[in-house]
Amino acid sequence: MSQSQKEWNKGSWKNYTALQQPNWPNEGAVEKVLANLSQLPPLVFAGEIRNLKQQLAKAVTGEAFLLQGGDCSENFSQVTAPKIRETLRVLLQMAVVLTYAGDKPVIKVGRLAGQFAKPRSSDTETINGVTLPSYRGDMVNCPDFTETCRVPNPKLMLKGYNMAASTLNLVRAFTRGGFGSLHRVQAWNQEFVAQSPMGRSYDRLAKQIDQTIKFMGNIGIAADNPLIEQTQLFTSHEALLLQYEEAMTRVDSTAGGWYDCSAHMLWIGERTRQLGGAHVEFLRGVLNPIGIKVGPNNDPDDIKRLCETLNPENEAGRITLITRLGVKEIEKSLPPLLREMKREGHNIVWSCDPMHANTYTATSGHKTRNFNDILSELTCFFESHWSEGTIPGGVHFEMTGEDVTECTGGARNIVDEELARNYLTTCDPRLNAEQSLEVAFQIADMIRS
Ligand code: PEP
Ligand code: MN
Repeated sequence: MSQSQKEWNKGSWKNYTALQQPNWPNEGAVEKVLANLSQLPPLVFAGEIRNLKQQLAKAVTGEAFLLQGGDCSENFSQVTAPKIRETLRVLLQMAVVLTYAGDKPVIKVGRLAGQFAKPRSSDTETINGVTLPSYRGDMVNCPDFTETCRVPNPKLMLKGYNMAASTLNLVRAFTRGGFGSLHRVQAWNQEFVAQSPMGRSYDRLAKQIDQTIKFMGNIGIAADNPLIEQTQLFTSHEALLLQYEEAMTRVDSTAGGWYDCSAHMLWIGERTRQLGGAHVEFLRGVLNPIGIKVGPNNDPDDIKRLCETLNPENEAGRITLITRLGVKEIEKSLPPLLREMKREGHNIVWSCDPMHANTYTATSGHKTRNFNDILSELTCFFESHWSEGTIPGGVHFEMTGEDVTECTGGARNIVDEELARNYLTTCDPRLNAEQSLEVAFQIADMIRS
């Protein structure tokens, strides 16, 4: 019997191999934490998850566009109001730029409120002859290179739940309580961005939107319409830590069906998407929208089977394929995949992650990505879709609202030597606020023409 024909339950993943799980030192402590987590309220609700799926179904046909972005790895120490506000602010700015250019609604999905577990290329890390377990995200251990910090601690899963809840609480307040109102579109421009060419382009656009809203008010369309006053930001993270995800999985009390209530959307990473693996087993049974990362060494047959296993009914909005092929491979690797999936008639939201296959080590020793590589992958993504007659449905970024120096290039042309100035990430390098806005304007140019 194939995996997809077997009965599913929220713990059936345990019958399969689960890669990238922590080596907890004390299983008894883990069980206690999981029992506790499974009693705690859901972070998101089934109705919201269904709503996101309906919106994503529109991105399959090109009637909406997905913008997904946030930290590579959230840190507990960064769960603060200013940090969350700045990330939200730049996401809202990018969304406005893309909505205006693309002439369609933009679905905003944050890599936030739960992006606390990381897959690693090696179980251990060696520095100056000392070998310790790798950092696996704040929900598992701490980034500091000391023995006590690197021991996985199951209580961090509980802390992760609480941190996700605080983040989500603030996001809900910001998006519903006026911060995300289109009346404030000009106010979202951050001080350190406002004076830059990007900031000025944004300001011009914001003024046009402002005038449009005033005009609507003048002709009698209510300016306090919730569509103007409120916005919606969905949450997402990599469904990596299966014990945590299982504990957050509940039956919807209104419509039935299992939902992983740790986030609206979950994705399955490039390293854990094996057919017959535990991550695929877990995700096939929950009704959330699922992202699948697809790297340059993909086998289109595999991807096809993954889609069949995770989405046997071919429901639109269920699967987002997040290609992360790299500037060197995309031209060769994307068109055959697009052709194959189109031939099979799969309903897919095609999203481009131009970050993960463009990572390199700078002369300064920092892990970085270059802005031009990111743009080139995006350009090739759109062009491949247009020439194959498929629909480019979204983009996926590692980004922050802060003025970090983690990716090289962009309008200010950050060079290798400057990376050390404000390199804050504990995992992958992110676009800073200005680079994020710049990338949004560049995409706007691509989709307008
Ligand atoms: C990530 O999104 O941070 C990540 C680890 O991605 P991927 O699985 O594509 O390498
Ligand atoms: Mn990453």
